[in-house]
Amino acid sequence: MKMKSAKINAFRTWGLLLTMLGMGLMILGTAGIVFWGSAGKVFAAIGLVIGLISMMASLAIYFWAGMLSTSAVQLECPECHKLTKMLGKTDRCMFCHTILTRDPEQATITAEQLESQH
Ligand SMILES: [Zn+2]
Repeated sequence: MKMKSAKINAFRTWGLLLTMLGMGLMILGTAGIVFWGSAGKVFAAIGLVIGLISMMASLAIYFWAGMLSTSAVQLECPECHKLTKMLGKTDRCMFCHTILTRDPEQATITAEQLESQH
């Protein structure tokens, strides 16, 4: 898993991880009944509840990411020239993970300077 990723991608990754975790717990819980019979029922119940919660949390994260991506600014990355989306004033490119900023005070290099380097 890449830690240095664009914010939208990070949200998606967490959403996916939580969905997998939730499904895994539900499957494990159900498997508990199969393997341990009635003793596994408590385990199954806990697994199902936690699984359901994490599935709901992942849904919320997906929804949130969807809402955020509508307000994200689409721009062409000056480094790899792909169309990327950024959240807030500073974010990373979805493709090459270059830190991009729209705040002139935080920028260490302008797109024109970058261009002349290549
Ligand atoms: Zn890029």
